[in-house]
Amino acid sequence: MLDADFFRRWMTAAAAAVDREAERLTALDSPIGDADHGTNMLRGFRAVTAALEKEDPATPGAVLTLSGRQLISTVGGASGPLYGTLLRRTGKALGDAAEVSEEELAAALRTGVEAVATLGGAAPGDKTMLDALIPAVDALAESFAAACEAAEKGAVATTPLLARKGRASYLGERSIGHQDPGATSSALLFATLAEAAGE
Ligand code: ADP
Ligand code: MG
Ligand code: MG
Repeated sequence: MLDADFFRRWMTAAAAAVDREAERLTALDSPIGDADHGTNMLRGFRAVTAALEKEDPATPGAVLTLSGRQLISTVGGASGPLYGTLLRRTGKALGDAAEVSEEELAAALRTGVEAVATLGGAAPGDKTMLDALIPAVDALAESFAAACEAAEKGAVATTPLLARKGRASYLGERSIGHQDPGATSSALLFATLAEAAGE
């Protein structure tokens, strides 16, 4: 079973990964965006770790809803509301249980990813974070490690795609040949989930 501490470890590991990879995320956002994805994620996840320390939420659901709220309120770019919705809706789906099973987390994350798709109006293959998030939740039934691998594969597979949503879509054909920054940060999110689980 996964308790609040597990989710706190996940968010802390995600913040550390964003810290390490911020430059790379911004560099990916440079040819097909406005070169701020790393900065956006840094600002958001610093607010997440600060809020978790200050408020010390007691349940898995509360850890994720608090984290999601921070991302929505501190990140100006598209990724803030999208990741914020992912975490908030996942947290809401977990309810107020003190511990949740891996199956419950997988189902809750699916609800969260569906909310991201509804909010952003993107479909698989549109070269967005969904191209990493959807294969990751699909593989979560198997293991955290499988989800991590699927997210990374999904992120890499955005390179030849034509962007149909977000800033990159303004470039049309010129968006082809670049890995999507949001799909790349989504892979980090699932890598750190596996890390928190010790896989
Ligand atoms: P902005 O584009 O506002 O500067 P970021 O650079 O932080 O925001 O985030 C860009 C990422 O957000 C993209 O790489 C993409 O993965 C994701 N994104 C943008 N629009 C959408 C959307 N409508 N649906 C899903 N993901 C999206
Ligand atoms: Mg950007
Ligand atoms: Mg921006």
